[in-house]
Amino acid sequence: MSNERSLQKPYTKVDLHCHSTISDGVLSPPDVARRAASQGVDLWALTDHDEIRGIAQARETAHDLGMDFLSGVEISVTWGGRTVHIVGLGVDETHSVLVEGLAHNRSGRLRRGQSIADRLTELGISGTFEGAKALASNPEMLSRTHFARYLVDQGYASSIQNVFDQYLGDGKPAAVPMNWATLGEALHWIHSAGGVAVIAHPGRYEFERLRLDAFVKEFQALGGCGIEIYTGSHHPNEYEFYERVARQYGLHGSCGSDFHGPKEGRYDLGSMPLLPTDIPAVWDVAKIDYAK
Ligand code: AMP
Ligand code: MN
Ligand code: MN
Ligand code: MN
Repeated sequence: MSNERSLQKPYTKVDLHCHSTISDGVLSPPDVARRAASQGVDLWALTDHDEIRGIAQARETAHDLGMDFLSGVEISVTWGGRTVHIVGLGVDETHSVLVEGLAHNRSGRLRRGQSIADRLTELGISGTFEGAKALASNPEMLSRTHFARYLVDQGYASSIQNVFDQYLGDGKPAAVPMNWATLGEALHWIHSAGGVAVIAHPGRYEFERLRLDAFVKEFQALGGCGIEIYTGSHHPNEYEFYERVARQYGLHGSCGSDFHGPKEGRYDLGSMPLLPTDIPAVWDVAKIDYAK
């Protein structure tokens, strides 16, 4: 036997990060499952923001279509004054610690939505609270994405990205800071529910190297396990850097498109490469619900 691992080989296309209408995606959980299967995905996780209420339906459809499934969630966390996202995989979505923690994390979203709308009104754009809410299937999960879609629909910007660049991105005029869960809380919820924790799209945080190291060390000290290397939120020229980070810290690797909808983002479901064979995969340590 060589040292090279082969555990992750059974899968040909893996997507462990995407969203449905339960948070800020545009397709229902079964429709995301169908699209993943049609793209050839054979291991799939739905990871809605701060929500697990799409998982049962997602799992059922995934299994009907022959896909192995990981129950997932993407938790909003405030760390060092910034928002970071932590993905939990293989969680028991009925576990009370996780369910109650996520409900608490969602609880400020409507109030924050009102503040975002107030700021947009001051900037001369009115009616956005009602407009964004009408686009959110799950009122508890009113997200900046819903505001962005509404502004694009109304012709205030040409793309969602432009809305974030102009109005809603961190530090922009209509951004309202939030106190999300702490890193310790998020990992406690995930671990209580039997899952493994993964750093979502680290490249998005624009951490200086020392800050990234501090973040990874704290994450590991809390029992964190993995890091997304190939994600729709990374430019391909960032892949190699995060491969090195995974190797340096002995983190398990993960990959996912961060798909939100067919007309949004650059990457469809299942479009990320598999991991290099020397980096252990998160799906080798997370509890998979097998299709059969
Ligand atoms: P929220 O949890 O309400 O703060 O919204 C965060 C969501 O907004 C993320 O999950 C993305 O879907 C979206 N988002 C954040 N920043 C950007 C950006 N710069 N461009 C496009 N979408 C973004
Ligand atoms: Mn999102
Ligand atoms: Mn995210
Ligand atoms: Mn995401």
